Amino acid sequence: MSYINDGIVTLKDICIPSRERLEKGGAAIIECVQKIPCNPCVDACPRQAIIIEGDINNVPRVDFGKCNGCGLCIANCPGLAIFLVDASHKKDKALLGLPYEFIPLPEEGESVILLDRAGEPVGEGIVHKVRNTKAQDRTPVIFLELDKDLLMTVRFFRRKSHEK
Ligand code: SF4
Ligand code: SF4
Repeated sequence: MSYINDGIVTLKDICIPSRERLEKGGAAIIECVQKIPCNPCVDACPRQAIIIEGDINNVPRVDFGKCNGCGLCIANCPGLAIFLVDASHKKDKALLGLPYEFIPLPEEGESVILLDRAGEPVGEGIVHKVRNTKAQDRTPVIFLELDKDLLMTVRFFRRKSHEK
């Protein structure tokens, strides 16, 4: 199924790095698949790794050879459509960085419920880091530690303290 049909981005809709590249370090994954006049992600990248070719309405792509996984682009996307994946974190664990605009923020070390793109629970992970600087303009980035095989599946999380 495609994004246009069901509203949920699939792996077929986005560019992802090779397994070899993922194991070398962090990389930005852009899940922006609608043609809209938008480009702050391009300006946010200090390595010119985000490219929109031709018309500003075209969707961006990442040059994974230039991207160093800094994550600066995540908070600059008004569509909350950029994620960071890093499979080099540990042997069996990876890091996922995602934008998070809810309060209160989770605590580092907190165990959370991992959710897929449809909002369905797929496992549990740990809040590894909470990045919330002034430069991020009220869009904190949460880094989750999770099983490597969930890295391209998980795109959000739910706090256990919010469970009934
Ligand atoms: S993670 Fe850093 S280097 Fe990679 S695209 Fe985003 S801003 Fe650029
Ligand atoms: S800033 Fe976000 S919504 Fe805008 S083009 Fe870039 S990825 Fe898409």
